[in-house]
Amino acid sequence: MKIIMLGAPGAGKGTQAKMIAEKYGVPHISTGDIFRANIKNQTELGMEAKKYMDEGKLVPDELTVKILLDRVAKEDCANGYVLDGFPRTIPQAEVLTEALEKLNDAVDYAIDVDVPDENIVKRMSGRRACVNCGATYHIVHIPPKTENICDKCGSELILRDDDKPETVLNRLKVYHDQTQPLIDYYTQKGILRTVDGTKDMKDVFEDIVKILG
Ligand code: ADP
Ligand code: AMP
Repeated sequence: MKIIMLGAPGAGKGTQAKMIAEKYGVPHISTGDIFRANIKNQTELGMEAKKYMDEGKLVPDELTVKILLDRVAKEDCANGYVLDGFPRTIPQAEVLTEALEKLNDAVDYAIDVDVPDENIVKRMSGRRACVNCGATYHIVHIPPKTENICDKCGSELILRDDDKPETVLNRLKVYHDQTQPLIDYYTQKGILRTVDGTKDMKDVFEDIVKILG
């Protein structure tokens, strides 16, 4: 099972990808999480990625594609994976398609979590992420049991720098310019499925499970 999550920043890709990964027993691979882990560990890749992320821009394809291909070549991906935040450009999608074709394989579904722009800024300003394990919450919709403390590991929850409204607007523009064309790309391949991401997260998940079976 190879699934791609599409959708604007803050649409709920990560929230749903984690639930899919758990239900179907495949790894959840978020390129954003990989970059943030590298930033935390102050690796060369992390320092390079940070320059782009802080401005709401995309990390260049050369860097992103390499880390993704390395990740999906690992043993735990043998039975599939859920990609969250990759691909984000047509060239990234083409590299993935070609890499899978070489293995006589292909992505099964690209799931577009559809949320209008008007809802996005509110979603992002309410998102809180755990500094330690990366779990995400929303101060109104999906609050932690104790304010600002991660339910899973007890660490502090923070507002990501790139979730501040001025950066979110940049990220939305980048999404429309560079990522939205993927909707046509996967529609043409016959594997695009759209779910209404404005519903409650459990209802969105039910809709996804109906698609995946
Ligand atoms: P993405 O991975 O697409 O950037 P997230 O999964 O991190 O988005 O979700 C963005 C924010 O919206 C988070 O704070 C999350 O808790 C919240 N969220 C996710 N799904 C829903 C939903 N269906 N309804 C309301 N809030 C949601
Ligand atoms: P995310 O956690 O998916 O919202 O990603 C956070 C940031 O990481 C994005 O705004 C980009 O700067 C960068 N990023 C994550 N995935 C990609 C990708 N596939 N291509 C380019 N940049 C990415």
